[in-house]
Order: sequence, then structure tokens, then C-alpha cells
Amino acid sequence: MSYTGPQSEPPQPRRSRRGPLVVTLAALLAGGLIGWGVYEVVGDGGPADDGAPATPAARTSPSAAASARADGKAAAPLAGKVVVIDPGHNTGNFRHPAEINRQVDVGNGRKECDTTGTSTNDGYPEARFTLDVAHRLRALLERQGATVRLTHDEKGPDWGPCVDERARIGNEAHADAAISIHADGAPAGDRGFHVILPGTVHAGAADTRPITGPSRELGERVAADFRRVTGEPPSNYIGHGTALDTRTDLGGLNLSTVPKVFVECGNMRDAQDAALLTSGSWRQKAAQGLSEGIVSFLRES
Ligand code: ZN
Repeated sequence: MSYTGPQSEPPQPRRSRRGPLVVTLAALLAGGLIGWGVYEVVGDGGPADDGAPATPAARTSPSAAASARADGKAAAPLAGKVVVIDPGHNTGNFRHPAEINRQVDVGNGRKECDTTGTSTNDGYPEARFTLDVAHRLRALLERQGATVRLTHDEKGPDWGPCVDERARIGNEAHADAAISIHADGAPAGDRGFHVILPGTVHAGAADTRPITGPSRELGERVAADFRRVTGEPPSNYIGHGTALDTRTDLGGLNLSTVPKVFVECGNMRDAQDAALLTSGSWRQKAAQGLSEGIVSFLRES
């Protein structure tokens, strides 16, 4: 469902003929159209800022359900596609310093198993943000027919998984696309989003050469749609305004054998970005932007 509302405007009643019957019909028609318009606006409304992801049941109007039924299987353009969503960090990581500080092999070096992530100045943790956006994104992709797997969820262990395991989950799922969701912890004044692409790494267990091309394609589409849907500007501190960065130090990318990108949705330490990141309706837009980018990539691939 588009966040912008109805795809087309309802036809306007003609005003040229003014017989009493025509006027009455016009009034009835106008009343009906107003009702339709109100219904569509309510049906397309985003969730309140309660942190709860929108459920299909809450967001599906009868008209949308009818059109989905009419489309049948054609309404599932991602049928057969697998997407792995990696919610960055874990809300319980801070309780497991020994486990998450353990060094793991990332191909061209060793890094911590995982990190705690950042938070807003008011204490909203990145790990809660990433899991919430992941849930919203999963709902959107599943409605398109995709098979979606998260690298971790609330019911699993309250730490990790380690970055090498996060990559392995995408690989073993034979994901058609994988995305790791984050928000940054840069100085105040630094703001905007960026997408991180895997650079070429051919060392040890890492060989990104087959995935750098498709990952760039995925990342460019995600960046374009994320920017369009959220209105969030490209990062003003990384990527020189392109919203793209390439890195060779992230185990989650180095060890991936499937097209994969990271997204840093904004800077949690900047007040302007933090106001967005802590808003449920903005997180829904963020998920919508990510979903549209992934759908666009998968429909071309
Ligand atoms: Zn992060």
C-alpha cells in the first residue's frame, strides 16, 4: 500500500447541467465520494507512535482486500524470493560483554562478535529501533509474497548473534537480498542516512567479489527509495552527498555470499534525526522506503 494515499483521484461531478434530479444525484454522488475519500485516508493511515508495527489486518481496507483477491497470485510479485533482514545489535547485548567482545574471523581480520549499538540522548536504544523497523519491513515484504527471515528476534537469545553468524544466516537461506538495519551514533549536527556497500575483500573466509555488483545495485535502489519515501537527506558526514559508502571492515558484509547492504537510517545523537527515529510513523516510512528499494531490486533480478 502506498503511504501517499489513493493512486488516482475520484472523478469530479460535472457542474454544467442543473436540473433538480441532476442536482440531487450530484449531491448523493458527492456525499458518496466524500465518504470514499475519508475511508481511503483512514485505511492508509500509518500507525500511531506506539512502537507497534502495523499489522496487515489493521491496514487493509475492504477495497484493498478486494483488489488483492482480484489480482490473486499476481498480487504476490515476490513469491519465491527470500529476504533476510538483520536487525543490527541486540537489546540484551549490554548484559553479555564477554560474549559480544569475543573476537570472530571476518576474513581480512578479527572483530568483536557484536556491539551494543548506540542510542538517542534520551536513551532510545539502536537495537530497539532496528528490531522495530525489521518487523515493519518484514510485514511489508511478506505482503508482497516474499519469504522473510530475521537473523534474530525477541524470542531468541538476548544477545548477538555474532556478525559472522548474521552473514551465515543470509548465506544459508540463499537470500535473494539481505539488509542489515542500523542507526548511527555520530556527533550532533551530523545527520542524514547512508547505505553501506561491500567493498572487494578476498581474504581468508571472505570473498565478496561475486556480490559487490549486485549489492551496489541493491544499495542504490534502497537509497533512492528510502530518500524518496522518508524525505531524509543523504548523510552530510559520510558519502559526499551520495548516501552511499563502501566498506571492507564489516564482517556482516565481508562474509556474505548473497547481495547485501547495511543501512544507517539516521544519526541517533542528532536531535533532528532522533525526533524522526523515535517516531513510529516515521519508522513505518523508513520500512516502506527500504521495502520499495528491495522490491525494485528483486523484480529486476
Ligand atoms: Zn549499528
